[in-house]
Amino acid sequence: MTTLDDNLKALERHLEHFRASGVLNRIAGKDVPGAGGVFTNTSPVDKSLICEVAHGTTEDIDAAATAASKAFGAWRDMLAVERRKILIKVAEGIEARATEIALCECWDTGQAFKFMSKAALRGAENFRYFADQVVQARDGLHLKSPTLMNVTSRVPMGPIGVITPWNTPFMLSTWKIAPALAAGCTVVHKPAEASPLTARLLVEIAEEAGLPPGVLNTVNGFGEGAGKALCEHSLIKAIAFVGESRTGSLITKQGADTLKRNHLELGGKNPVIVFDDADLERALDAVIFMIYSINGERCTSSSRLLIQDSVREEFEARLVGRINRIRVGHPLDPKTEIGPLISEEHFNKVTSYFDIAKTDGATIAAGGAAGDPSGYFVKPTLFTHADNRMRIAQEEIFGPVLTSIAFSSEAEALEIANDIPYGLTAYLWTNDLTRALQFTDKLEAGMIWVNSENVRHLPTPFGGVKASGIGRDGGDWSFEFYMEQKHVGFATGSHKITRLGAS
Ligand code: NAD
Repeated sequence: MTTLDDNLKALERHLEHFRASGVLNRIAGKDVPGAGGVFTNTSPVDKSLICEVAHGTTEDIDAAATAASKAFGAWRDMLAVERRKILIKVAEGIEARATEIALCECWDTGQAFKFMSKAALRGAENFRYFADQVVQARDGLHLKSPTLMNVTSRVPMGPIGVITPWNTPFMLSTWKIAPALAAGCTVVHKPAEASPLTARLLVEIAEEAGLPPGVLNTVNGFGEGAGKALCEHSLIKAIAFVGESRTGSLITKQGADTLKRNHLELGGKNPVIVFDDADLERALDAVIFMIYSINGERCTSSSRLLIQDSVREEFEARLVGRINRIRVGHPLDPKTEIGPLISEEHFNKVTSYFDIAKTDGATIAAGGAAGDPSGYFVKPTLFTHADNRMRIAQEEIFGPVLTSIAFSSEAEALEIANDIPYGLTAYLWTNDLTRALQFTDKLEAGMIWVNSENVRHLPTPFGGVKASGIGRDGGDWSFEFYMEQKHVGFATGSHKITRLGAS
């Protein structure tokens, strides 16, 4: 069994790599310092310096977009089976370095090793899954008309900009980059400034696996600099973005002049609705898992508990008991369930809701305080006696903080569930089949699980409605974004062509 000590020693070895040279940009297969100098990257665990990071600017984005554009033709035209082989090797490379990826991710983001070790492997799964779709990705339809043999096919869009956030950054990057590469696109990746380490590991692994230079380029930097420049660059054909809803709106504005295609995966304030006829034991486990795992820094977290009033008191009492036993601690301790939040800024945002909850008249039934001040630790928190108009019920807090709201009837539960600007996921707990069918039909969410926590299945569509996003990932939906449809009509005979100027 691995211990905290083992993990700390292994981490030290892996960090040497970054301490020696910092995190450099990778453009056209070469290490490139940032045109804007460097910025520093610190660990949320103890606030210590990890390393310097290349500060990419418009100049770096231009170099990376040019490299991606030059590499596009050869990558697009490579035989699909050859591209597939490289992507499978990337998956194998990720698996071989999964512990290194997980340890670096934990140190960089504060996420617990317990969850990040699995997230690294899910990154490999993303590459394997899309590698297996490569051969048929370009297939189309044959749509015969009386005079034409109409044929459709799909072609890759071109160079794609991928902009990712700091929560589970490695897994989320592969989620975008793997299908883009499988489609035959090249990529410029701008990782979140708060979590640059594993994006660097990914490009190293990909190149070692045989990905040609320029097919995947990584430019570090800030949203308003490198991120904005990527959206505005004319060689970049589309932006695959994961982040906050208000940033999603900026992405759309910034890409307007160059008519960018945008895929936006944005915020959420997702309801978990528990009826009194549900298996309450399993519902309790799922409610706790979906808000307190991954530090609650998870777009799909069930941050609003809608609990039927007949079982509210008992359910909340049991929740409090379990929440108070959740292990908050060093993220590299394999027993830790919650680590520190990503940054001081985010810590301040999350903890500010403790006062907001009190002012609004809710009860802090568990937590409601910071943890060990050597890092950005927060105690898992439960707000009760809340109503859906309170800020703690309407705003995405993005931490280990759950707001519990009581309801009495099915109609009231539905009204509360939908009374929110977001619509990413919803979770429903009931053993009444008719209710489940009717309720899921009316819930405003892109993804709904009934009697289950969020279990991702890659062929299914992932994405939100309302302020939670535009577009879907997964299965063929990913290729629909990264590829263009092309139609060609072949005349099957000598059909009559209307003649002008011939009489
Ligand atoms: P963020 O929007 O602040 O940043 C995300 C990325 O966008 C970063 O790389 C950042 O540098 C970049 N960026 C910021 N401003 C930009 C601009 N003007 N132009 C271009 N790029 C810009 O988000 P965050 O705080 O890093 O991540 C947390 C958010 O992400 C939460 O709202 C969460 O719900 C959301 N998220 C959504 C999903 C989903 O699938 N729907 C998944 C994970 C996270």
